[in-house]
Amino acid sequence: MGKPCIICVAITGSLPTKANNPAVPITVSEQVESTHEAFEAGATICHAHVRNDDETPSSDPEKFARLKEGLEKHCPGMIIQFSTGGRSGAGKTRGGMLPLRPDMASLSVGSNNFPTRVYENPPDLVDWLASEMRTYDVKPEIEAFDLSHILKAKEMSDAGALVGTPYVQFVMGVKNAMPADRDVFDYYVKTVARLFGPETPWCAAGIGRHQLELNHWAINAGGHARTGLEDNVRLDRNTLAPSNAALVRRTADLCAKYERPVATPSEARDILGLKAA
Ligand SMILES: [Zn+2]
Repeated sequence: MGKPCIICVAITGSLPTKANNPAVPITVSEQVESTHEAFEAGATICHAHVRNDDETPSSDPEKFARLKEGLEKHCPGMIIQFSTGGRSGAGKTRGGMLPLRPDMASLSVGSNNFPTRVYENPPDLVDWLASEMRTYDVKPEIEAFDLSHILKAKEMSDAGALVGTPYVQFVMGVKNAMPADRDVFDYYVKTVARLFGPETPWCAAGIGRHQLELNHWAINAGGHARTGLEDNVRLDRNTLAPSNAALVRRTADLCAKYERPVATPSEARDILGLKAA
């Protein structure tokens, strides 16, 4: 068997609604229930945004606090990763939950286009989010929407701006950003190994119909895998995913196909250099 594969479940995001798929968890209690089921199916990182009751994105630290409490209670050992992404608020409100000291938080280190707008990550905000993560000992996950974001992470890491070795998430298939291109993916893998060392863990996420494809590529190439309703609400063109857990099970089945065990919470914490729960 190969090395353990960490499965990250991105449970909610800031875009999909119940109209897209009724299984998208919106309230904190729905989020805890959906994550618990995904945890039992093998997910060991929960990547989370929070929502208002009308399903619009929120950055309310109180909701993040209730989510963290619920996850710690129902998913013991699971790695909690909060999003500091730009759809949930503007400026410093994006990092308002970092004092809660989640295990990890997503960090975008550069700007790019999204389907209908610019995804703005100005340098002073990136530096501030990274400094808050240092203050509260939160390990960043670098969201690489572009090759330049991986090199920026190297520069920040060398300057001591990031907690621990960067854990890079390749995000591919966002319209107007980096497509799911196999040659680029291979170059991303090579670049992480060159900049951070050949054993450095990394992860990949594909958006929409590219989710399954990126799961194949990442698991087969020795990386870690992200799934979940944030990135994709379907099992195939005609079938809505019945739950986050169903997507996690599909990813776990791929791990078996490529002869990689699904990482346990303690293995995942060890691989990422996180303290035991
Ligand atoms: Zn997200």
